[in-house]
Amino acid sequence: MHILVTGGAGFIGGHLAQRFAADGHDVVVLDNRDPFYDLDIKRHNIEAGQTAAADGDGSYEFIAGDVRDAELVTDLVADADYVYHQAAQAGVRPSVKDPRKYDEVNVDGTLNLLDACRDEGIERFVMASSSSVYGKPQYLPYDEEHPTTPVSPYGASKLAAERYACAYSEVYDLPAVALRYFTVYGPRMRPNMAISNFVSRCHNGEPPVIYGDGTQTRDFTYIEDVIEANMTLLDEDAADGMALNIGSTDNIEIKTLATEIRDQIDPDLDLVYEERHDADAEHTHAATDRAEELLGYDPDHTIREGVARFIDWYRENRDWYEPLVRQS
Ligand code: NAD
Repeated sequence: MHILVTGGAGFIGGHLAQRFAADGHDVVVLDNRDPFYDLDIKRHNIEAGQTAAADGDGSYEFIAGDVRDAELVTDLVADADYVYHQAAQAGVRPSVKDPRKYDEVNVDGTLNLLDACRDEGIERFVMASSSSVYGKPQYLPYDEEHPTTPVSPYGASKLAAERYACAYSEVYDLPAVALRYFTVYGPRMRPNMAISNFVSRCHNGEPPVIYGDGTQTRDFTYIEDVIEANMTLLDEDAADGMALNIGSTDNIEIKTLATEIRDQIDPDLDLVYEERHDADAEHTHAATDRAEELLGYDPDHTIREGVARFIDWYRENRDWYEPLVRQS
């Protein structure tokens, strides 16, 4: 299959492109290498895709370009059977400072892809959405029927994008699915995330810093479980036109996460608490019944296992990855 992965120089898109190439598909990555975090990680993501293609039967091509460029997007979609749209301006807190950019990239960029996918009649459009579409919980865990009232420009832009995808499915019969990810982590993750920070600090004999009282809860979802969910959409049409939660079944408090990481690396360290950021969600927790039923989704990494695997990877890649975490 010919698969276009937007945002394929990023964390999730990088793992997706790598997996597609390893499985023998012809992968084209479109990514503008946005400097939201250090470009060295994106270089490693691209190299991982190239290596996977070289080691297997697939191919890998990197195109430096922008999803806001409708002409380029149209050209690339013309050669694709599937589009996996992961490109986005990510980050809840920065979106409060520059909401318009989030609209331009996350909404207009998605519309460029949807128009091209509709016109080319591709097999399926799969897009990354986010737990941020839900906003303040009226009940937990969030199921897909929970009201969507995002509390950040980022969440609003992801909601608008996924609503367009579902509307194109309804109106133009475009097979389109939005996967609402819940805090994804794993090798080559964005350096400014809680898990990479906790691991880095503990490795340097520094206590992990928790913002707030640490009772905030998250579904930390291991990258391989997210990739598996995406893989099923190469064949499965049961979720077309829908948005589905993709989370872990292992909801934990941030202070429990910090404790787990501290205990795996340096049990003598304390935990340190600092003031909480307002834009951060208090609790996120996914009900994944819909994904289980329609995609056979079955996340099989507990937080303990996922963290242990991330720590192993961190130790092997510490020389280049740690400086990026320290400066983020
Ligand atoms: P990431 O920042 O690592 O990857 C996004 C990629 O998109 C980057 O490589 C960036 O250069 C690229 N990009 C940004 N603007 C672009 C543009 N205008 N044109 C082309 N490329 C552009 O983020 P990620 O963590 O891999 O997230 C991937 C997707 O998953 C995003 O859509 C994000 O909103 C969503 N998501 C991620 C998480 C998570 O926990 N990581 C949670 C919920 C949703």
